Amino acid sequence: MNNKIPFLLLTLTSSSAVAYQPSISSILKQEHKCSSTIQIRSEKLSQTQITQACALLSKQEAKFHELFGTISSPVKDDNNASMRANIYADRGSYVKYVTDHFDVPSDNGGMYLEGYPNKKGNQAEFVAYEKNGQIWNLAHEYIHYLDGRFNLHGDFCSWPHDSHGAPEYCPKPAPVKPHLVWWAEGLAEYISKGDNNPKAFETAKSGEYKLSDLFNTSYENDGGSVRIYRWGYLATRFMLENHRAQVDEMLKFTRKGEYDKYQKLVTLWGTRYDAEFSTWLKKIEKK
Ligand SMILES: [Zn+2]
Repeated sequence: MNNKIPFLLLTLTSSSAVAYQPSISSILKQEHKCSSTIQIRSEKLSQTQITQACALLSKQEAKFHELFGTISSPVKDDNNASMRANIYADRGSYVKYVTDHFDVPSDNGGMYLEGYPNKKGNQAEFVAYEKNGQIWNLAHEYIHYLDGRFNLHGDFCSWPHDSHGAPEYCPKPAPVKPHLVWWAEGLAEYISKGDNNPKAFETAKSGEYKLSDLFNTSYENDGGSVRIYRWGYLATRFMLENHRAQVDEMLKFTRKGEYDKYQKLVTLWGTRYDAEFSTWLKKIEKK
């Protein structure tokens, strides 16, 4: 018996020296419930910031449901009744802890973590940080939650894209195109920024992409932040404001998880709207 003690001590000492990381609750100590659907866990937000964040998120939620009429109709098998925002004090703290706490890369401005919505007790989370007194990408990440719960059936790996990174590790290879990144990221930008997106309007001037190209935008290939976020915003806004019936048709499929039918529909759109999109870009660039 006695022989084992030094061994145990040695093990404990070495593992605690190497692997010890502060837990989530010891860093994100402040917990606040905005409503039955929104919670905020934070490191250093002031009471005013928390109140403002709750108000902003409630506003996004209302905007989303006004646009889609989805207030009490989540997709089937979705248990993500509420979303928890996890807000680090600054980028340094985010980089230091987020990977250990949530098994996600830290080379980004925030991430939405849908988890497995079909599992009971699943907690949807997003991770973000404060920058210049603001919670960076707060509204954008929250739209991903709403889109995932009310428009896109299944978890992050269900819909067509080519991201294989943590924490989902979607199996390779990527499904055939068209993908759905233009919509997922474009909608998050469209609802969170509304008419206030000068960078996208500036980008529109280049006329670099046809709409039909943008349906093939993805994360790892055929991506890049300008194409994903700014062009995604433009493509989504164009379709929502000019071809709403087609978007509704598309959502019928994505809400049921019929992504093969979604792909068939978008393939059918083909280059049909390219010329109209290019004319529309000239109007929008003046905004
Ligand atoms: Zn996003």
